[in-house]
Amino acid sequence: MTGVNLVEIRKTPEPDVDPQGAILRVEACGICGTDARTFFNGDPKAPAPWILGHEPVGVIEELGPGAHLPPGVKKGDRVFLGSILTCGQCRWCTEGFQNLCDQHLLYGYDPYPGAYADYAPVPAIAMKNVIALPPDLPSDLATVADPFACALNGVEVLDIRLGDTVVILGAGPIGCWQAIMARDRGASKVYLSDVNRQRLDIALRAVGAFVDDAWVAGDDNGVAEVLDRTEGKGPERISVAAPSKAAQQAALLMAAKRARVVYFAGLPKHDPISPLDINQLHYKELSVLGAYGATHRQYRITMDYLRRRRDQLAAVVTHRFPLDRIGDAFETIRSGTGLKVVMLP
Ligand SMILES: [Zn+2]
Ligand SMILES: [Zn+2]
Repeated sequence: MTGVNLVEIRKTPEPDVDPQGAILRVEACGICGTDARTFFNGDPKAPAPWILGHEPVGVIEELGPGAHLPPGVKKGDRVFLGSILTCGQCRWCTEGFQNLCDQHLLYGYDPYPGAYADYAPVPAIAMKNVIALPPDLPSDLATVADPFACALNGVEVLDIRLGDTVVILGAGPIGCWQAIMARDRGASKVYLSDVNRQRLDIALRAVGAFVDDAWVAGDDNGVAEVLDRTEGKGPERISVAAPSKAAQQAALLMAAKRARVVYFAGLPKHDPISPLDINQLHYKELSVLGAYGATHRQYRITMDYLRRRRDQLAAVVTHRFPLDRIGDAFETIRSGTGLKVVMLP
């Protein structure tokens, strides 16, 4: 990335191996909404010229002399690298909530360049995030482990129970995966909505078999559709998987009494305040919760889940691009014509 909305393919020297780190020969690297926001809006943590890419899968090509890999992983293995870099020592790390580490950083952002490249350095701090892949899980699909683990975290916070009616607002990759997991957790009904017709159609081609009904949310963000399908009672579980104040507000209006609502997506840093009808919380005894990132435990579960549900989840990866078409890849995300987009160096 040579500037805002500017990209060049360059030949660069191969990265030096960190004495306590490694070099990854990149096989695939996902592009997510965060990458697209960085590319189209700029980010001080991606000082140009900068190599983005924080969802890499690759082979451990080289190891520093003092490097320690997690148990069961060795040089030459094909691995996934979790992007949330943690201190490993604070209260949250030691209690297993690595996503909440007091000092967490993101791989692919300053000072750690990312993996839209043939070779990517793995810094010492990222070595504990190296996870071996099941041999039968293809690299392009394995790149989704990062966002998928975040979707899983959202589903765990949502605590979907046998027989629940679940509504997911937002039909991006996160919403799609949550629909599959909601079904697996025993939801009786799974509904999916989005404000964008095209995105919803693409989502339904991928995960339509897991969804009972879906619609394009209109002016009321789908409140009428939900109440219509639940005899006016509303759903027990709602995931707001879209960075939208309107969806956050609508979720409270459509929720059943004693329902649980999870705000999965954040809002832009410069505009984070969302007006909410607190009387909905009060009179309906709602639980409103947040979910962010994923823990090491959730990454581990994700690998097995991706392998078991490979065929269904693979449908969510709609586009694959070689490195020299990375500009097209970003445009595919921006235009909403794809779900998950993967670079194949
Ligand atoms: Zn990401
Ligand atoms: Zn920590």
